[in-house]
Amino acid sequence: MEEDSKCTALSVLVNAERICYRQRMMKKIRARTISDAEIESFLEKYKLYLTQHELKFTNQRKIIISEFLRAGGHVSAEDLFRSVKKKAAGVGLASVYRTINSLVEAGLAVERQFLDRSSVFELHEPGHHHDHLICMRCRKIFEFENDKIEELQKEVASKLGFTLQDHKLELYGYCQKQNCPNL
Ligand SMILES: [Zn+2]
Ligand SMILES: [Zn+2]
Ligand SMILES: [Zn+2]
Repeated sequence: MEEDSKCTALSVLVNAERICYRQRMMKKIRARTISDAEIESFLEKYKLYLTQHELKFTNQRKIIISEFLRAGGHVSAEDLFRSVKKKAAGVGLASVYRTINSLVEAGLAVERQFLDRSSVFELHEPGHHHDHLICMRCRKIFEFENDKIEELQKEVASKLGFTLQDHKLELYGYCQKQNCPNL
């Protein structure tokens, strides 16, 4: 496979800023940005996956991935498709689905489903675990991590003879955002 480090879409990737809202219990929300090194490692893994599956890192894929990284947070295939269309009108929804599914298969993205909505996708960041709070009115998704909860879950699992491998914690309620129709 040819090396496309000079591709413009790639430089978009490297410059992509992902705002990821994480909230420690009771502490102010802070933003996290993916570092260049993380993007490089992401691309390396994805290219390896594509080679193993005899697929090419096409321009379409580059644009879709760059928009996925730029979108940050939790994005549906339809929303991703809308932003990709602005960059490259010729890209179809099926290509967006194929690319996003390949990211999930490669272990680089995670598919989630909240409430009755269609799936949303987010970056899988090794070493950056988080759980979710979902507003049932405005449907905003908040990310949080709480060490006590993490420990308690391990404790519960181990008491029941489980070695914990993974978990998903989703809390549903009403947020305090000013534009939330709940207020
Ligand atoms: Zn957790
Ligand atoms: Zn809300
Ligand atoms: Zn998340």
